[in-house]
Amino acid sequence: MKYRELAPYLRKKYGGRTQRIPISHFTTCPNRDGIVSVGGCTFCDKTGSGFANKFRNMDVRTQLLEGIKHAKVRYHATRFIAYFQSFTNTYAPLSELEELYNSAIVDGVVALDISTRPDAFPCEVAELLKKISTKRKIDVFVEFGLESINEHTLVSVNRGHSVAEFIDAIFCAKRYGFETIAHVILDFPSDTIHDEIACAKLLSAVGVNGVKMHALYIVPNTPIARDYLKGTFKPYNLDEYVRRAVVFLSHLDPKIVIHRLISAPPKDAIWSVNVSASEAKQRIEKELERVGKVQGSDFNYLNGASWRKKFASV
Ligand code: SF4
Repeated sequence: MKYRELAPYLRKKYGGRTQRIPISHFTTCPNRDGIVSVGGCTFCDKTGSGFANKFRNMDVRTQLLEGIKHAKVRYHATRFIAYFQSFTNTYAPLSELEELYNSAIVDGVVALDISTRPDAFPCEVAELLKKISTKRKIDVFVEFGLESINEHTLVSVNRGHSVAEFIDAIFCAKRYGFETIAHVILDFPSDTIHDEIACAKLLSAVGVNGVKMHALYIVPNTPIARDYLKGTFKPYNLDEYVRRAVVFLSHLDPKIVIHRLISAPPKDAIWSVNVSASEAKQRIEKELERVGKVQGSDFNYLNGASWRKKFASV
């Protein structure tokens, strides 16, 4: 096994094929509505990452039921995770959130998966999720966008939060016993390969449960697309993404589940890797083999590594 894949992890945890069903509900976030900023992240598309959900214009319950129907036929799935995917899915009054989350718990749903920003996950929301989780006997996954560990990159892409908020949110979610998943974009041109190593180390040190790796894509009518057209922004390519993905994985704790090695962009996007997601995935797997690495090959830096190296056997 080159890396810890999601499907077998979920199959073991829930005893059958488990499929995430995407739900789009929210249409904004604090980085768009003026609480943090109005521009949003420079790479954010107009669906807030919900572009792949073909049922996104329906109400939540219908999206879920249609998604489940589709997953039963296409994947023979028997368990489902209600995945609140687009925009910031904790960004509403508690009463609204309670009604929303409860509306997504139907027969076969084993977990809620809530995607959000690190600066929009207060303990009040964690309390609410814990209450629902206990009462309805379902698990909770929380996905946080970190994107980069480089503060200069976070500022330049207008993320509107720093690494500190991410660490704080992860610790909060872990205190409540939720599974935590981090999103990272591995090929920002302003990040070096050392940033990707540092990112893998941070995610391992704070103990996230899962990671979604992404390559940068440029969607029309975004600030990053305007820079690209002006020639002031030049994305990397497949070779660089593969190189960074391999280094990132080799430094990552092998316990962390890899939810994605790369995710597909919207159809109208210019994508740094310029091949299909499955081709890019194969390239990463081949490169891991070529360099003789697996996830965690270089996970040797925590728990007083230098002391252990010198004195552990004395
Ligand atoms: S926080 Fe998410 S939804 Fe908001 S602008 Fe950034 S990527 Fe888009």
